[in-house]
Amino acid sequence: MAKNSEYYIQLEDELGANNYHPLDIVIERAEGIWVWDVGDNKYMDCLSAYSAVNQGHCHKRLVSVMQKQCEKLTLTSRAFRNNLLGDFYKSVADITKKNMILPMNTGAEAVESAIKAARKWGYKVKGIEKDKAEIIVFADNFHGRTTTIVGFSTEEQYKDGFGPFTPGFKVIPFGDIKALEETINENTCAFLFEPIQGEAGINIPVDGFIEKARELCTKNNVLMIADEIQTGLGRTGKWFACDHFGIVPDMYIMGKALAGGFYPVSAVAADKEIQGVFNPGDHGSTFGGNPLGAVVAIEALAILKEEKLVENSANIGNYFMDKLNAMDLPIVKEIRGKGLLVGLELDRKARPYCEALMKKGLLCKETHENVMRFAPPLTISLHEVDWALERIEEVLKEKF
Ligand SMILES: *Cc1c(COP(=O)(O)O)cnc(C)c1O
Repeated sequence: MAKNSEYYIQLEDELGANNYHPLDIVIERAEGIWVWDVGDNKYMDCLSAYSAVNQGHCHKRLVSVMQKQCEKLTLTSRAFRNNLLGDFYKSVADITKKNMILPMNTGAEAVESAIKAARKWGYKVKGIEKDKAEIIVFADNFHGRTTTIVGFSTEEQYKDGFGPFTPGFKVIPFGDIKALEETINENTCAFLFEPIQGEAGINIPVDGFIEKARELCTKNNVLMIADEIQTGLGRTGKWFACDHFGIVPDMYIMGKALAGGFYPVSAVAADKEIQGVFNPGDHGSTFGGNPLGAVVAIEALAILKEEKLVENSANIGNYFMDKLNAMDLPIVKEIRGKGLLVGLELDRKARPYCEALMKKGLLCKETHENVMRFAPPLTISLHEVDWALERIEEVLKEKF
């Protein structure tokens, strides 16, 4: 008997830890912006695995380099060198213009690594007294799910039952320059932020905040650490969301699309004066910098460049926003976004609208109850966006 969606859903629910509430679609294959479920129904993917598949699903070039590399070498550990890690560093250095790269696997690990680098820099370079270092973060931040990271989240559910937490973090309201200025003191080693908050609902800081924060950080010798795991690599229509504000952070944290959805690859990019605080044995990861991840990441970055996906994200994203803004949608409170990271804040729960769109063949996911996020692969065409807009308009005219 052919196995249907119900079979897979029941199996997942029976044996899996209950830490997600997915839409009930069981995907079996994908190509570009399209996915097919086990019943062979076709859907447009407007989530891109939280921006991990900016290059589109199962990109042929990534399939090819990954297959070839699998047969040659997959893992050496960092006990030995491999012939691809250096080129991976070069690719990341090239897009970030930073000269020292630290390779990791998941986004949360890269954030942890940046926190460690910033603290060590605080003690060794800035001269902060032992165990006094502080890192300033935004309210409503999302930087991952480790115990240290959820410890400075302001989302109760992320923390409930997981304490005690790591000290040394100070939370300020999103985009509040006065609070940043008042919170910085001689023990502040870093300001860690998302230039546009993704999980919190596509929140863009008020005009001038990021630029002023850059000035404050420079003046007070505080590292500015941009978590561009979701906003980076073309998602917002620039290589990095920080580019919209014309500023350069001291550290970039990247992940997700860094390997086009094929492999978990993340990295922290900074200059030697900062990242140089690490010595052999200070930090590590068995899989970080592995040749399989490295070769996929090199190709994933080359695809973004050669297919001009950053430009496409900007152009199509503008078109998408213009069309949305022109629609008469009484239940939409606000439309926010840059490039192909677009959030629609509704005056009610977004989940039923995501479910209705799924029935029409478009996949997206609510974030923070009231916000629908649209973030299709950056390969999407004008024609395909029109197809999506038609369905979005139909569904948003309904009342759930
Ligand atoms: C997804 C995300 C992370 C965490 O990445 P994981 O790979 O899930 O650990 C961290 N920061 C931001 C901004 C993210 O969007």
